[in-house]
Amino acid sequence: MCDFCHKHGEGKKWYLQAKNYSEDLMSDLRRRRFITEFFSHPEHLTTDVAGLTQLERAPAFVRAVLTPYISNRQKRIHFGQVVPIEDVDRIFGFVTSIVRLACICRQTTVGSEQRYCYGVSMAPQGGRFTEIIREIDADYLTGPNTAGLEMLTKEEAIDSLRKHEKEGLCHTLWTFITPFIGGICNCDRSDCQAMRATVVYGLPVMFRAEYVAQVEPDQCNGCRACMRVCQFGATGYSAANKKVVIDPRRCYGCGICRASCAKNAITLFDRVKVPAAAYRW
Ligand code: SF4
Ligand code: SF4
Repeated sequence: MCDFCHKHGEGKKWYLQAKNYSEDLMSDLRRRRFITEFFSHPEHLTTDVAGLTQLERAPAFVRAVLTPYISNRQKRIHFGQVVPIEDVDRIFGFVTSIVRLACICRQTTVGSEQRYCYGVSMAPQGGRFTEIIREIDADYLTGPNTAGLEMLTKEEAIDSLRKHEKEGLCHTLWTFITPFIGGICNCDRSDCQAMRATVVYGLPVMFRAEYVAQVEPDQCNGCRACMRVCQFGATGYSAANKKVVIDPRRCYGCGICRASCAKNAITLFDRVKVPAAAYRW
């Protein structure tokens, strides 16, 4: 279990607790201001990336002090976790509205609207989270009329996420002042600033999933399709065995490799039951 499961999930998966999506949490004015600010200024992401580059160039002792400080601050305000599609399906099962909207990271990297993010809420019609987004005059959300907010059924949403898996995108959920969870994104290392911070710059702003993937060697034909989609460099190919192996110390447990495997050779296991991965978050 990650830290948040102990702090916000009573020892169970924190993101499967309905209270962490509740309108009660959304009534907090500080949280509402944070969300407004977050979505109003996508350009802040560019500044954040510039900061990461500077941090990477800083002396080792500076990085050693600043990295845990920034990571812990992010845990309080905007932190993520990788989640496989079966857990996203469970979340979609108890939230009462799902809204697809433009990805704030891709607005920065690609410069155009790309709908890869999903707002989730325990209130019908998107609740206060959607109200706040609608109030923001942000061009990347297709303008003040926010026509870009699409209400989806659970079935439409899960179907859409399965398509993102086929694109090689990893599902992540995000807090807006922890423990409130407001969104599920679909990320890759090129465009997701949080994934880049965590994986490329060594500044963790998201947890690994509660799972870790393993390949069943007898079922693997060595096609290497899984290697092409792993965002975390966790797969390796054995030329001698003509099989792929997954390094549990690097695996984030997203399950995207599984979606690409025509031989059904990849399974997700509980992270805590795999000794090499159990304490890696
Ligand atoms: S996609 Fe499946 S069959 Fe192909 S190398 Fe990976 S685990 Fe093996
Ligand atoms: S090996 Fe692990 S991190 Fe890589 S795609 Fe598979 S589940 Fe995700």
